[in-house]
Amino acid sequence: MPLQLHNTLTQKVEPFQPLADNTVKMYTCGPTVYDYAHIGNFRTFVFYDLLRRWLRASGFALNHVMNITDVDDKIIRNAVAQGRSLRDYTDNFTKAFLDDCGTLRLERPEHIARATDHINEMAEAIAKLEAGGYTYRSDDSVYFRISQFPGYGKLSHNDFSGMVAGARVDVDEYEKSDARDFALWKAPKDKDEPAWDTCIGTGRPGWHIECSVMAYQFLGATLDLHAGGVDLIFPHHENEIAQSEALTGQPFARFWVHSEFLLVEGQKMSKSLGNFYTLRDLFSRGFTPESVRFLLASVPYRKGLNFTFEGLHSAKTAIDRLRNFKLRLETAKLAEGENSEVQTAAEAAHTGFRAAMDDDLNTAEALGAVFEFLRAANVALDGGTFLDGNRARALELMVLFDSVFEILKPSETADGISADDVEAQIAARAAAKKARDFARADQIRNELLEKGVILEDTKDGVRWKRK
Ligand code: AMP
Ligand code: ZN
Repeated sequence: MPLQLHNTLTQKVEPFQPLADNTVKMYTCGPTVYDYAHIGNFRTFVFYDLLRRWLRASGFALNHVMNITDVDDKIIRNAVAQGRSLRDYTDNFTKAFLDDCGTLRLERPEHIARATDHINEMAEAIAKLEAGGYTYRSDDSVYFRISQFPGYGKLSHNDFSGMVAGARVDVDEYEKSDARDFALWKAPKDKDEPAWDTCIGTGRPGWHIECSVMAYQFLGATLDLHAGGVDLIFPHHENEIAQSEALTGQPFARFWVHSEFLLVEGQKMSKSLGNFYTLRDLFSRGFTPESVRFLLASVPYRKGLNFTFEGLHSAKTAIDRLRNFKLRLETAKLAEGENSEVQTAAEAAHTGFRAAMDDDLNTAEALGAVFEFLRAANVALDGGTFLDGNRARALELMVLFDSVFEILKPSETADGISADDVEAQIAARAAAKKARDFARADQIRNELLEKGVILEDTKDGVRWKRK
């Protein structure tokens, strides 16, 4: 069975194939760089990464574009408040975002496009929409007239009669003749507001136009796949379709794939609710990037994922088991020969893993296949029935697993000590104490302190944090 993905457009799980040659033209909506991204955002970015990896494992090449929204109301407000230029302000958070992506081992898209590098192309596209009769002006701002685009609503499957502006629709002070119409171009409201001089006047783009324009610029009129979080289906993606199809007269994207939220006690993790954690928050509590990555990757993307610290601890336990198993496979002294039962189980795990990933990226089932084998193989290793000839295929399973999950190699932190190394040092200190070698125990504590790690002896054991 080839790779199947759920397409929001048709509301069905369908076999996926790129339209032309073997390369997937893929566009994903990136971050708005007004602050550090939180792990809710990273659920979506981890999903993009899994999608990339499994598309490649399915034999496709990738041409993937992700945008960075580096101009919007919040960014402008914050930059102005800090007396900084827009570039200076957004450079900082763009870099932090890309660093975080690297830390979480997310593959880089082939193109990362910053909105403010493409303002003129956006102005030209808006001019074309104006010429085509899709827009109207009000106080020098330009709006897309939804009623001119008959397909509006085909992605979100909404009935728009009587609809009022949704959360991310440009709900602002501009006069509009229709609440559903959205801003393509915004004239500056005051002299402090960043603005560009273009062929359609002075101002800045609305949020939606950047994706239509940059997707066209890098990938052409029709994308094979467009992805984003479910919160983007309406209005952002609906608006992207309206703009792009009005501009080119061709279908904008063949597959629309949307990932569900990371939740905290049933609610979306978000800046506005204040229920969020950044990667920095979690690392300072001693969690590793691998644990965060594993947790975010382990629940299939179309299911809500409830964030808990318990979940992060379980991720760590799962990672430890997988690493120990791989080490055991690599180092165990095994008798010659091949056990056909073990070999059959390894084949079943390979097949099960692939089938689960092909089934709309069912990562939970894919993991299930690996752990089922791990259990059986450990029993066989304990009982001496796992033979040398079984080793290679079992290790190949770990390679297949890690080509998607990529958590087996422990990460180094910036100061050169990983959380795993800290744990190992804590265990060594406990052993020294038990042997009444208090000088050694103190030495370990001080060495960790020099590396920025503080130990606290509590009645429940040793806790640690970074300075
Ligand atoms: P933003 O920076 O607000 O434009 O959001 C960047 C991406 O993060 C978008 O694709 C959102 O769909 C996604 N996102 C925001 N909050 C969450 C969440 N709690 N869970 C999953 N994805 C989210
Ligand atoms: Zn977008």
